[in-house]
Amino acid sequence: MFLYFDTDKSGWCVDSSDVMFDVVVVGAGPIGLVLSNYLGKFGVKTLLVEKNSSTVSEPRAVSIDDESLRAIQGINLAETVIGSLMPDYGSCYQSPTGSVFAKVSPNTREYGYPRRNGVHQDVLEKQLKDGLEQYSNVETWFNHQLTSFSEVEDGVELSLQSADGQVKSVKCRYLCASDGASSFIRKTLNVVMEGDTYGENWLIIDIENTKDTFRDTRVFCDPSRPGISLPGPKGTRRFEFMLLKGETNEEVLAEENVRKLLRDHGPDEHAVIRRKTVYTFHARVARDWKHGRIALLGDAAHLTPPFAGQGMNSGVRDSHNYAWKLAQVALGRLGPKILDTYPVERKPHAQSLVDMAVKMGHVMMPLSKPTAFFTRLFFRALAIYPPAQSYITQMKYKPKPRFNEGFFVPDGHKLRNTIVGRMFIQPMVESSQAPTQKQLLDNFLSDGFTLLSYSTTPETLLKRVNGKFVDTLKVDSVCITPKSVLLSAEDNPRSQLRDINGDIEKTLKAYGECVLLLRPDRYVAAVFTPESVERVNREVDTLVEATW
Ligand SMILES: Cc1cc2nc3c(=O)[nH]c(=O)nc-3n(C[C@H](O)[C@H](O)[C@H](O)COP(=O)(O)OP(=O)(O)OC[C@H]3O[C@@H](n4cnc5c(N)ncnc54)[C@H](O)[C@@H]3O)c2cc1C
Repeated sequence: MFLYFDTDKSGWCVDSSDVMFDVVVVGAGPIGLVLSNYLGKFGVKTLLVEKNSSTVSEPRAVSIDDESLRAIQGINLAETVIGSLMPDYGSCYQSPTGSVFAKVSPNTREYGYPRRNGVHQDVLEKQLKDGLEQYSNVETWFNHQLTSFSEVEDGVELSLQSADGQVKSVKCRYLCASDGASSFIRKTLNVVMEGDTYGENWLIIDIENTKDTFRDTRVFCDPSRPGISLPGPKGTRRFEFMLLKGETNEEVLAEENVRKLLRDHGPDEHAVIRRKTVYTFHARVARDWKHGRIALLGDAAHLTPPFAGQGMNSGVRDSHNYAWKLAQVALGRLGPKILDTYPVERKPHAQSLVDMAVKMGHVMMPLSKPTAFFTRLFFRALAIYPPAQSYITQMKYKPKPRFNEGFFVPDGHKLRNTIVGRMFIQPMVESSQAPTQKQLLDNFLSDGFTLLSYSTTPETLLKRVNGKFVDTLKVDSVCITPKSVLLSAEDNPRSQLRDINGDIEKTLKAYGECVLLLRPDRYVAAVFTPESVERVNREVDTLVEATW
């Protein structure tokens, strides 16, 4: 039912048409946009609501990681997004004299993409918004603000006010709050944000046409003025400087001060400034991420200091995790209890990234000269021991995409070594249908659940994976052979893949030949080995039944 203000009649009118959606997403920031793209792809009837007239125009996030790019690959936008990135850069941690005491330069492509990439959030949001145009099942209402909502027995009723004063009532089965740091939905639900207020103020300066040709992030670990300089796409550069005790926003934003900071930190004193502003960063996580039919995602659920460049990336993981669960419920394949696994899986991981950012802040913002000296000494000592050096350079300190609890069947391996509950790697593979073209694994996977059979004769074990779940979840299957197997398009009824670099063989060393049940978000839900296949068939069936 719509209530709207009719200017001709000068009064409020009621449009009695019922507007019912499976899902309403509030907030068209990067998190709501990724979520809506996924819901569009999965065929879920969705409404995306945004109070502003367009996506953001000012730069915010400047770093996107490999996991987010894999999520974006899943909505067919990887090529578009990668085309406007500054891919694959590292970090150099510098002492006040400019000497480099620690380097981060990850060269892994574990999930298919470089681990750190420069991005413009405003460009990314526009690309994600354009991506929605391909889905007739997603409506996008900009200039509409959520003003009230209430949960009823079979859904959530919402009141939306448009910029011209019309009030519209809509109803949905599930409401997603991706409405940002000051989330109206979170506040209305009285959900507490836990953790330190932190509250560091940082001056952000975005410039164009940088003269600094250095490709990595420079981290100025200087107690007298901690700061960062990050390269961005198309000759842009971001500077971030911590405000010192007693400094006011007006003082640091003054033109003279900004130019001096640029002069002291590279060759960009006279650069064109696109934006300068002061931000306060927080390290806080919402206590409850789900309230009945309502879930919090992105900044509405967690706020992280910028040192790890993970605020948006963590939020993209939320969308990637929750979208397929909503879709499975909307399609009637899984019961609504699957939605309860969203906070169980995502909250501890998001918390671990906030904790990592806080720790990185201690390195970047040493409180005194002696602390700065000992921090540098510590990192220089680590560099002598190769495993410790690789821990830093390869970013092994970054929490892995894995869950301790959630929608998967534990396989008895120790938490550190198990493959289940983890995002599966994304290596390059070769297909029997096009042996000369090497492609990323996900390009051969469907949008839903997939059985990935790895063996010299992958069809054999695959036939024994025959639990009820195969039909219930409409599971697709893909066969992949070790590197040493000669693929033949004629002999195989379907496309077979080959593990051309031996990455899968290495990852599955502890299992040998096996079939993996991959979730739509590419996490491993179960492993079937020749010895365990009957038992795991039963256990996956039980897992699926338990969602009802
Ligand atoms: C200076 C800066 C640098 C950063 N750098 C990085 C980085 O390098 N890497 C990284 O990963 N992250 C970074 N971040 C964090 C990143 O920008 C945020 O985590 C990200 O924008 C969160 O996305 P979101 O969609 O959750 O929220 P938002 O982007 O805030 O979007 C929320 C949307 O909801 C809308 N909305 C709010 N209330 C309503 C309502 N009642 N009705 C309708 N619409 C509503 C808002 O208008 C807004 O468009 C940075 C942030 C800042 C400020």
